[in-house]
Amino acid sequence: SRRKLVVGNWKMNGMQAALDEVAAIGARAAQHPAVEVGLCLPATLIAAANARKGGAFIGAQDCHMQASGAHTGCLSVAMLAEAGASWTIVGHSERRQDQGETDADVAAKALAAKAAGLGVILCVGESLDVRDAGNAEAVVSAQLLASLPDGAAADWLAIAYEPIWAIGTGRIPTMEAVATMHAALRAALASRIGEDAKGMRILYGGSMNGDNAAELMAITDVDGGLVGGASLTAEKFAPIIAAAN
Ligand code: 13P
Repeated sequence: SRRKLVVGNWKMNGMQAALDEVAAIGARAAQHPAVEVGLCLPATLIAAANARKGGAFIGAQDCHMQASGAHTGCLSVAMLAEAGASWTIVGHSERRQDQGETDADVAAKALAAKAAGLGVILCVGESLDVRDAGNAEAVVSAQLLASLPDGAAADWLAIAYEPIWAIGTGRIPTMEAVATMHAALRAALASRIGEDAKGMRILYGGSMNGDNAAELMAITDVDGGLVGGASLTAEKFAPIIAAAN
């Protein structure tokens, strides 16, 4: 059975003053050892957060695919690991949109992170147009297979299904739609990596909160959550952690 994975993505939020929230969330994580809990923070907070993480892991939100070089403003996986990150997100829809990241970029970043010993959360998800056109499962499955790195395996890689139209909107798909999508993604994984697909965590992300987390994570193929707004404070994030227990 797959250990639930609940990860906060703070996006471009969090000053040093927010380290008290990191510590409070880490303390709540320590109360739920059955759940793997992490916070993917702005890189400026990773080192300081690492000292106050309690039962949570600290992760990054992105990484570069090259080890070093002339890439102004970018951060290598070794830099992130040295600062204290043990995981990173790759392929978030905000980076696919804002930074024009391609599926090939995402796969290369995942491989670089794996080589540095980081766990990886690889994000996929459809636009509202695709959802309305009725072929979301096919589109997102294809995106997943195109973004999947060589050597993908459950012991270092997790998938996050994040419908773009559900991010920060307070809207979520029906539970039936989430179940259908997650089952389709697991089948797509199995087509590429075989039996190991059964062990790979597939997280749901997009307006997850304390009210809907239990129902979402009770779905057979939903193995946790990738949480934005509701991960910024212990008060909001703790009920989601508890719901995964
Ligand atoms: P929200 O939880 O704020 O909708 O964000 C989801 C997300 O994008 C997490 O990566």
